[in-house]
Amino acid sequence: MKKSILILLILIVGLNAQEVLNKNLYLSSKKVKNANTFLLTLNEKDIQNPKLTFDKHNINFYKHPKNENSYYALVPVSYYKEFGTYRIIVSYIKNEKKVFKGLDIKVIDGKYKSETINVDKGKVSLTLKNKKRTKKEYESAMRVYNTSSEKLYLKEKTLYPLNSKITSSFGKKRVYNNTFKSYHSGTDYKAAIGTQIKAINNGIVSISQNRFYAGNSIVINHGQGIYSCYFHLSKMNFKNGDFVKKGEIIGLSGRTGRVTGPHLHFAFRVHGIQVDPLQLIRLLNTNKLY
Ligand SMILES: [Zn+2]
Repeated sequence: MKKSILILLILIVGLNAQEVLNKNLYLSSKKVKNANTFLLTLNEKDIQNPKLTFDKHNINFYKHPKNENSYYALVPVSYYKEFGTYRIIVSYIKNEKKVFKGLDIKVIDGKYKSETINVDKGKVSLTLKNKKRTKKEYESAMRVYNTSSEKLYLKEKTLYPLNSKITSSFGKKRVYNNTFKSYHSGTDYKAAIGTQIKAINNGIVSISQNRFYAGNSIVINHGQGIYSCYFHLSKMNFKNGDFVKKGEIIGLSGRTGRVTGPHLHFAFRVHGIQVDPLQLIRLLNTNKLY
């Protein structure tokens, strides 16, 4: 009995030592689901160049607009990330010396549902012309999503693009003819053709284009690697490079692109990675960064 108390004491002291080491680092949660985003805050005076590495991905910290000596980083976790504990390495320069700190985060199963789709092989494969088109569209969109600016355009509370029923949730596994092919990369909202779609926050339109799968697409750059996406529109009200204000009508919903019926597909990218859009909005609205 005494021995176990001693072991317990050693464990408690050990844990405290780790907390003291990281007393300037705060995670929005110690566990994160795959395809979710977490927030890491660093509070430290007189530092330069704060960065972090999460699973070989380098992400910059940004200065908190309201709290001096505070920095934050939004870290996306890929849908395909294996479950388990990952070490986050934080580095910065203080008194001309490079400082390294480490902390752990656990990636857990988002338990996304799956749906089986049986289709003729002929319908799945694309013509050569369409293959070239989709490849080109994918590559140019990825170039946009991987661009991140220092300025954050987000202001106050982030909105939802629509106030209607969700017809297909984010993350649903898509099993085509018994093979796991892909997952649903956004949240689908019920929307009759012509429904007004709102910009969830301020930003710069960085894609306004008709695309093979997504149809008429608007993508808004909110700065610092954050992009919101609105697909299958019947009308696009903004062009590339336009500044759009929170709540403005960016377009009308429709059924353009590869869809079976009219709806809005709403998605988010953070540092190039697809994440659950509704979880990100909740994270942004509960951790007032702006
Ligand atoms: Zn969708």
